[in-house]
Parts: sequence; structure tokens; C-alpha cells
Amino acid sequence: MRNAAAHPTEIVLLGDPVAHSLSPLFQNAAIKAAGFSATYSARRVEINELESTLLAFRDKNVAGNVTIPHKEHVATLCKELSSTATRAAAVNTFWFDEGALVGDNTDIAGASSTLTKLVKVRGIFSRCLVVGAGGAAASLLLALSDMQLHDIDISARNTHRANALCQRIRISASVMDNVPSDLSKYDLIVNATPIGISGNDLPFGIETIRADACVFDLVYRRGLTPLVKQALDAGILATDGLDMLVAQGALSFEKWFGVSPDLSVMWSAVGEERQL
Ligand code: NAP
Repeated sequence: MRNAAAHPTEIVLLGDPVAHSLSPLFQNAAIKAAGFSATYSARRVEINELESTLLAFRDKNVAGNVTIPHKEHVATLCKELSSTATRAAAVNTFWFDEGALVGDNTDIAGASSTLTKLVKVRGIFSRCLVVGAGGAAASLLLALSDMQLHDIDISARNTHRANALCQRIRISASVMDNVPSDLSKYDLIVNATPIGISGNDLPFGIETIRADACVFDLVYRRGLTPLVKQALDAGILATDGLDMLVAQGALSFEKWFGVSPDLSVMWSAVGEERQL
């Protein structure tokens, strides 16, 4: 897969909503530190505006990211897809190559980044529970599969969506419509729902989670998410989605500019201390 041929001068995050995104913050800091004259901004677009927006981008060599809920739709609009975007049937990074829209997916590698760090601390997992069955769950499940972790349960309020997801990304998992009341059999429990993005709700109770298990909350926000805070307070290894966000963003940067960004610049722009 080729990188963006000429450096784009405008990078846009397309999604709905986008106001909460931290990507402009750390991408602009990294772009400035690398000395590129480009800007990264977030634009809220509705699904019916996507195609015309991308068409207008083509003439100006605009590159970008895609977030909820447009990742799957942008994949269908691309002329060329990377192998990871094809696997996930979802695009989170795009650019133009001689006028052709190219789509890639760096979310899977972003999820792998965090999983690898958790494994380094706690050892390999054998049994995992993923709560939620949307685009973020898809990347996480593919990253688990790449680590040869196949004993996976998915809890989703919409089991039809969860089963369709498993079929689409060719993952074998047991699907249930409720989070089990006893979580003690799991080594890794992942929140892939938006619960906790604001407010204090938890996607599941932590009482039955084993002390040697890990919690990975794909949600991120300023400070700790309620789930990560409670798990850490209980002495459970837990991390939020910030590492995944920065890791996928760093890989997108490489695709657009052909060089790696300064990760320390990205992290200090986000202004968070790492839990891992
Ligand atoms: P999505 O495609 O909308 O999927 C969300 C999933 O959560 C669906 O299964 C949905 O069920 C379920 N859900 C939503 N609200 C729920 C609730 N109140 N109770 C139970 N289940 C609920 O969203 P996504 O792209 O997967 O993103 C999910 C979250 O992951 C985002 O909000 C974001 O915080 C996080 N995320 C993080 C990163 C990162 O880099 N760290 C990347 C992507 C996403 P239904 O199908 O029934 O609605």
C-alpha cells in the first residue's frame, strides 16, 4: 500500500459527532513539530454529505481520518483499500493517490498496541469478553485474533448486529445479549460501548472481575473513565482508549506524511499520564 503521494496540506476528520475528538489536538502538535505546513481539523458530516465532501477533497488533495458512524460507508467509496481496511470492511484513514481515494485502517494496529502492553504486564490472556459490537469492537476483535486469542465472548444488546459483525470479519465468538453476572472466568474484559464517555455510568460491574484480570476501556476522555477509575481503585490492571487513539493516529500520520511523528509530542499535547 502506497503512502499519500504528495504531502497533504489539509487533513480532516470526518464523523458525526466529532466535537469530543482529541485527534486535532495531538495531530496538529505533531504536524507542527515535524515542520509540515498542514492543518488538521474535525468536520461533522452527515452520511448523505460524505460522497460530495470526499469529491471536493479530491481536487484539493485533502487527506483525513474517519470516525463514527462513517467508517464502513467510506470503505465502500474507496477506489483502493489496504488489506487491513478490507478485513475490517472499515476505513479510518484516507488520502488520494493520483485522484483515487485510498482507504486504510489503523484502528486494528492501535488496539494491538494497547493489548501488547497489557500482555507484557500481565501475560497472555486466554479468555476474553468484549462488550459492544460496533466498529471499535471489530478492530479489537481483529487485534485479538492476530494475537491468536480465540476464546472470545461478545455481549451486545443487539445480538443480530454482533452475529453479523462476526460473520463480516470472520471471527468465531459466542454472542450473548447480557453481560454475565459472574466475570471471574475472563482474563480480559473490554468495553467497546460508548458508556462512560461522559457521566459516571459503568458498562458492567467490576465486583466479580479477578484481581489478576485486565480491563480495557476503549472509551477515552479527559482524566480516567469511570470504569478505569473503579477497576484501578480495586487493584485491577486497567487502561482506557487513549493509547489506542494515539497509536492509530501515529500510523495515520505515517500514511499521510511518509515519516513517523514524534510520539512524545502527541502525548504531551493530550496532556495525560499513562497508566501502562
Ligand atoms: P458504534 O459502532 O456505535 O458501536 C457501539 C456499540 O455499543 C454497539 O454495539 C451499541 O449497541 C453498543 N451500545 C451503545 N450504547 C449502549 C448502551 N447504552 N448500552 C449497551 N450497549 C450500548 O461505536 P464504535 O465505533 O464501536 O465506538 C464505541 C466507543 O468506542 C466510542 O464511543 C469510543 O468511545 C470508543 N472508540 C475508541 C477508539 C480509540 O481509539 N480508543 C476508537 C473507536 C471508538 P447497538 O448496536 O444496540 O446500538
